[in-house]
Amino acid sequence: MRPANWNSLVRAIPALRKELDAADGLNILIALACVVGMSVVGAFGPFALKLLIDWLSAHGADSFQQNQGLILAALVASYVAAQVLGRIAAEVRMFLFGAADQAVARKLGRKVFAHVIALPLSFHRETSTGALTQTVENGLQGFRLVMQHAFFTILPGVIEVVLMSLVIARVLDLAFLAIFSACALAYAIVFSAGARTIMQASRAISSARIEANAALADSLLNVETVKAFGGEEAVIGRFDAALAYAQERWRSFYRARFTNGLLIAFVFCAGLTATLCLAIIQVRSGAMTVGDLVLVNTYMLQVVRPMELLGAGVRDIGQGTAFAERLLDLLDTPLREKSDAGGTRVSPDTALPAIRFEDVRFAYQAKQPVLDGVSFDIAPGSTTAIVGTSGAGKSTICRLLLRFHEPDSGRILINGIPISHYAPEVLQQVMAVIPQDTTLFNTSLASNIAFPDFGAATEDVEWAARLAHLEHLISGLPEGLATIVGERGLKLSGGEKQRVAIARAMLRHPKLLIADEATSALDSAAEASILRNIKTAGQGTTTIIIAHRLSSIMDADQIIVLDKGRVAESGRHEDLLEIDGLYGTLWRAQNRESEPNASKTM
Ligand code: ADP
Repeated sequence: MRPANWNSLVRAIPALRKELDAADGLNILIALACVVGMSVVGAFGPFALKLLIDWLSAHGADSFQQNQGLILAALVASYVAAQVLGRIAAEVRMFLFGAADQAVARKLGRKVFAHVIALPLSFHRETSTGALTQTVENGLQGFRLVMQHAFFTILPGVIEVVLMSLVIARVLDLAFLAIFSACALAYAIVFSAGARTIMQASRAISSARIEANAALADSLLNVETVKAFGGEEAVIGRFDAALAYAQERWRSFYRARFTNGLLIAFVFCAGLTATLCLAIIQVRSGAMTVGDLVLVNTYMLQVVRPMELLGAGVRDIGQGTAFAERLLDLLDTPLREKSDAGGTRVSPDTALPAIRFEDVRFAYQAKQPVLDGVSFDIAPGSTTAIVGTSGAGKSTICRLLLRFHEPDSGRILINGIPISHYAPEVLQQVMAVIPQDTTLFNTSLASNIAFPDFGAATEDVEWAARLAHLEHLISGLPEGLATIVGERGLKLSGGEKQRVAIARAMLRHPKLLIADEATSALDSAAEASILRNIKTAGQGTTTIIIAHRLSSIMDADQIIVLDKGRVAESGRHEDLLEIDGLYGTLWRAQNRESEPNASKTM
């Protein structure tokens, strides 16, 4: 558990400052000027009322005679003006602050999203989507609370308290100033203690909200499984347990606020009693007029308001800071797993990529090696298949090529240059991947194929769709390429999603194509036909195919057989059959499985 201190606030302020541009700064400055105006006018208001009361007491019925009437009207006008100006300034302040607040919320939201999306895949694999979205939501709410109160509660509060103290010191007896000072001190003590408790409670709420949203999103993302297994009650129960925990945390929060509020009311009550008693004594002795008594009472109320505002501001900043903490941690998460310091940013090469793995070792978790000294060469323009049992490390090779992870040791070279010298964006321009599990965006088929180039020409999208044998699907849909595919592509079959992924990859005209079990959801005939299309379209592309079904890769230029993170054997199909090692065993096993159809799939 973190200590309840203000370190996170110190971290939050520079992040906020960076998001404010000149226009927002100007809005905030004008709003601040309004705040100062409000404070001055606010301080003058009770004084105008005192003058009015004294005037009426001194002149009685004469007040309404013509000459005096003008003075009376001026006094009434000043008092009303003080009240109206104060209210107008409050509206202008809200208007200007609202604009700055929304601008900062947008910029901060964009910055956070850009950071989150740039975080390494390893981070995303370990963080639940629901937790991440709630962290961002809490954080933005926290930042807004901090900004709102820093500018519009603390600052005006301080100004008002100082102004009031000056007026009181000038206008009133020092004894009243002493009472106000004692009240201010009591307020400071009570509020700072409250802010600490509330910060702790808010931190717990923030975590509980994140957990609850993680449970919610996890269930929704798996809605098909939930429905297939009648697991509604189970997931509702899980979500409810998370909500109950959050509710309990909120209860502690409100308990802390309530206790704090009671103490504040007690301080106020003591201050007001002391002020009134002193004022009554002074009126009785003739040292003060009735107007003075009203003034003292009004000042008591008026000085308490900014003090309470200040305290509430500190308390809410504590809450905002606690809410923003997890987001600040997120923003501090480094974008890459390991630094590629010293790497020159090599620009895309026009040559087709030649790939070399040199004794590459990699583990997702310490002491559980996944790649254990893998070495191989892939010639430019050739087709290489990587095969092996499930969990042998085939997809891991692709992830290293995409720089989702960095090898623990050894080197990966593209055209003789270590991969760490290429910026990820450069690699992304050169490569296209057809992943093992394809999930789609909840947009149209066309924009899913074109992704991320939403401006791609329709003819190009259609060409790619034909290549991936999507034309029958598209022609059968009333809205054709404009059909929305549903969240994660839920409206399409597994095979159709794979075809969309294939079309997307082909549209990029990659120099290096990585197909990771890209056709596993297709039948053998469709697979063979699509692979033929890919070959024709990507003439000369360096291609890496990971395939479980050996019949689909038997004509590859090179087949690498991976076993327990090591290259067990490599060569062409015929050579490997001749060796009769692991590949031979796998080949025979698969042919036995598909025995009556063996001739069709081979
Ligand atoms: P495959 O050969 O089936 O493509 P993978 O390369 O996907 O195998 O995975 C190799 C091993 O690494 C498996 O044992 C898998 O459980 C493990 N693994 C894969 N991804 C992760 C991850 N993000 N964290 C921890 N272990 C992982």
